Order: sequence, then C-alpha cells, then structure tokens
Amino acid sequence: MGDTDESSSQIGGRVEAIQYPIFGACQCGKVTYELLAPPTMVVACHCKECQKLSTSAFSITAMVEASNLVFKGEMQFWSRPADSGNRSDAMFCPSCGNRIYHVNPDEPDKIKLKPSNLSDTRLIQPTAHVWLSEKQAWFQVPDGVMQFDKQP
Ligand SMILES: [Zn+2]
Ligand SMILES: [Zn+2]
Repeated sequence: MGDTDESSSQIGGRVEAIQYPIFGACQCGKVTYELLAPPTMVVACHCKECQKLSTSAFSITAMVEASNLVFKGEMQFWSRPADSGNRSDAMFCPSCGNRIYHVNPDEPDKIKLKPSNLSDTRLIQPTAHVWLSEKQAWFQVPDGVMQFDKQP
C-alpha cells in the first residue's frame, strides 16, 4: 500500500484507492476479464456510432495496454472501417451480445475497453470528451475535462 499504490490516482487525480486487478464480466457472465493496471486514458465519445453502440447518449472507452488485460471466454467480433481509415474490430460476447472491447488489428497492443462491465466503475470517469459536434443537446460537458468537436 502507500507508495506502491501511486498509480491508482493517475486518472485526472480524481480516483482514489482503486485496487487492481479489477474483475469484469459481460451481462451473462460467459466472458470475464481482469484489468491489471489503470487505463492510460478514459474517453467519452458522443458520435452517432457510439450512441448506437451504447444505446445511450455517448460511449465510454478506457485505453488499456493489452498486457494489462486477461480475458476468459469465447468472443466474436465484427469489423468496421473507422472514420480515420483504420479498421476497428468490435469484440462481443456471442451469448448476451455485450460489447467487451474494440481493437485496431494493426495495433493489437492498444485495447479500447468498454469498461462499464467492470466490478469497480469509479475509473470510468472520462478525462476527455470527443465528437461534441454530435452530442445530445441536453448533455452538459463537465468542467475540467478535455473537449474536442471531433476526433482529436
Ligand atoms: Zn455474455
Ligand atoms: Zn464514437
């Protein structure tokens, strides 16, 4: 504890005493995973695709090094070209359909975790909001976060 736990507060300095690993599971529980270390960044995306994906006003993505995740259980994926021209493979549980993560197959080390199915969701507080040009009108961006009209 103490000095060894320094990384726990690195997300915007607002999250305290999160203990790793954190367990995650899809809605039906057939896909599980462990997050071994804090994400490098947590981003809220307000684009129309993410509104569909999240069935909500925006999606939240935690950027995580692949070596800091251990997945269990069978996943399927579908691919779509991202606006950047990169491909995005969307991994999901074939039983309940819950989205687990996205990854560009050309950058397999960078996992874009869909973190709402973690057992400790304190870390999913976004430090950046992107695609605000497509956000729902009622949503007020909180103070103290990075803001981008489109993809930075
Ligand atoms: Zn499932
Ligand atoms: Zn998006």
